[in-house]
Amino acid sequence: MERVVTVVGAGLAGCECALQLARRGVRVRLVEQRPAHSSPAHHTDGLAELVCSNSLKSTKPDTAAGLLKLELDRMGCALLECARDCAVPAGGALAVDRERFSEEVTRRVGDEPLIELVRERVDDLPEGPAVIAAGPLCADDLFGALSRAVGGANMSFFDAAAPIVDADSLDRSVIFEQSRYGAPSTGDYLNCPMGHEEYDAFMEALLSAERVIARDFEQADLFCACQPVEEVGRTGHDSLRFGALKPVGLTDPRTGRRPWAAVQLRAENAARTAYNLVGFQTNLTWPEQRRVFRMIPGLEHAEFLRYGVMHRNSFVDAPHALGPTFEIPGTSARLAGQITGTEGYVEAIASGLLAALNTYCELTGLEAVRLPATGALGSLVAYATDPATTGYQPMHVNFGLVPPLADAPRNKAEKRAALARRALRDLDAYLEARPELLAPRAGE
Ligand SMILES: Cc1cc2nc3c(=O)[nH]c(=O)nc-3n(C[C@H](O)[C@H](O)[C@H](O)COP(=O)(O)OP(=O)(O)OC[C@H]3O[C@@H](n4cnc5c(N)ncnc54)[C@H](O)[C@@H]3O)c2cc1C
Repeated sequence: MERVVTVVGAGLAGCECALQLARRGVRVRLVEQRPAHSSPAHHTDGLAELVCSNSLKSTKPDTAAGLLKLELDRMGCALLECARDCAVPAGGALAVDRERFSEEVTRRVGDEPLIELVRERVDDLPEGPAVIAAGPLCADDLFGALSRAVGGANMSFFDAAAPIVDADSLDRSVIFEQSRYGAPSTGDYLNCPMGHEEYDAFMEALLSAERVIARDFEQADLFCACQPVEEVGRTGHDSLRFGALKPVGLTDPRTGRRPWAAVQLRAENAARTAYNLVGFQTNLTWPEQRRVFRMIPGLEHAEFLRYGVMHRNSFVDAPHALGPTFEIPGTSARLAGQITGTEGYVEAIASGLLAALNTYCELTGLEAVRLPATGALGSLVAYATDPATTGYQPMHVNFGLVPPLADAPRNKAEKRAALARRALRDLDAYLEARPELLAPRAGE
């Protein structure tokens, strides 16, 4: 195939998109601004860097996140393969060693002769067929060009990332390894137990701590799925105890009793040399994070490998500004990843895969991809491209987006299982009718 597709941004969506196009024989110019230019959330020059948590969420088929993974497997997703190769134990979730994951994606992109990786910043919409996958922290000039192209239909909110601490600095005489409800411990999570008074003191310090007041923050919308811990704490004295710090199902080995609250730590890598504080996305200043989070029992001497940060997170009003395949009307460019307003790592990967398929269809004169709306991905796309969608906000895959079942079982788990079965049946039928969409997998 003669034409070269420019993919802007070698993040999750951009790398998946580039690999999928290459597998279909399409030449790709993959342009990444790092390391010369970076966003405040990226810390490396590696491709597909995970900017916050290392979890790609549930693998259970009766959850929307688990169903999405099954759908992506059927479509030959490349980055999910990389994720599984670099998985670290995380119970029912797929979590990865973030460095190995990035290295693996970088290697696969480097090994692909049809992909040319160019390290430069793109400041305007590229000429020719293009996929803009520049993420929620897209560089300013490009986002400005994009805004002009879509008639100013852009939006933003504030998003936050959690801190990471050095495993060697944890006090293991206080912190214990345990799964909830006496299930055999897999060592996926560590627990920092808090007594009643410790919790009260911690809450007082958390709510009075100094924050980084980001530009426009006072008027900004906080994305409710990624609320800073101090904002959640502000909604009520016990809100954290019933949320991220819930002690349910845990027994402190020192007392033989359930703690009043418990902070969970999740391993960042297979070697378990670093842990992130689960649910501790924050907008506190770095010295305040050190002071307040060191009040957590067992973290008194914690060394912070990375502090939590808060950033503007930008996206386009896709239902009203983009076409049904996320194309910018009147151009040969389409958007992919979080910049379209879909939310989450695996959603970004899925969106990159879909952008590759639609770009491939356009180049080869095939009909555009219309995934069944019963699926996790199909329903998210339907929501994000339906002009009837109002108050568009970043959205994860979820069963609330799929059409209801005619005879839905009353039991919630059975209902979800039935929704998943229907989704996979419909997707299989669609893919069977369109074999030209599937590409050979790596090594085939
Ligand atoms: C602070 C923060 C924390 C988040 N935490 C989570 C989380 O814990 N879990 C989760 O599921 N999701 C999280 N998200 C949401 C989302 O899943 C991630 O942002 C995800 O990385 C989006 O993938 P992407 O491919 O769209 O963008 P990215 O992965 O950000 O990739 C975009 C790439 O484009 C490059 N780029 C940008 N502008 C240009 C330009 N002009 N020229 C060339 N290159 C450019 C960037 O350097 C980057 O490499 C978070 C988002 C933010 C902002």
